[in-house]
Amino acid sequence: MARLAFKPDASFFRKIAIGAVGTRAVREDLGVHGHQAVELERGSTDTKLWKNVKRKRVRIPDLVCTRCGLRVECRTKTTPELSMSHSLTDEARAWDFGMVDSDYIAFPICIANDEAYWSAGKLGPEASYWHERNWVHWETAGRINYFPIRSFRATPHAKSSTKGVTEGAETIISWPAVFANRSAVVEAVAGHRVTTRPSVGGRRNSRKVPA
Ligand SMILES: [Zn+2]
Repeated sequence: MARLAFKPDASFFRKIAIGAVGTRAVREDLGVHGHQAVELERGSTDTKLWKNVKRKRVRIPDLVCTRCGLRVECRTKTTPELSMSHSLTDEARAWDFGMVDSDYIAFPICIANDEAYWSAGKLGPEASYWHERNWVHWETAGRINYFPIRSFRATPHAKSSTKGVTEGAETIISWPAVFANRSAVVEAVAGHRVTTRPSVGGRRNSRKVPA
């Protein structure tokens, strides 16, 4: 079915690009906090695909700090959510495979702030031609959230969904979370209740994190 090949490749490339943009943002952010993060997995900040180099049964974290040894996996999102891909049947594809409690997962949010499509079609006597281009300018939105693996292991995930027949069936699991939709400072965390104060002033807001 070569005819169908273009779309899945384009969306796969988009996923890879989003992941790389997010990992670069995390590397930069860790630098601001005194870490010197480098990529261990060749290509986690690039879109180059390395075929047949995946070492089986070993997880290589996206970033490692050369100063303190901190290991960070990046799960770049396009909307605020704490979700990860997971496999119930293949141990090596489980969300936390090969990770230790002190490893961190970073959740950068990557959005397309400018996107342009260009396409051209030509028809000759016996052949047709289709050419498509898609330029996207990416930016990361808001702050990057970091959580240790132990927090996820200690909290059961809330829901799961299976999707993506074209790119191989994939289960997505997510954890309960609330995100501030404006700039705010966290004033208090009591049990499942988070109290925030808007940066620009105004009334405090108290939200309950779903259990
Ligand atoms: Zn460090």
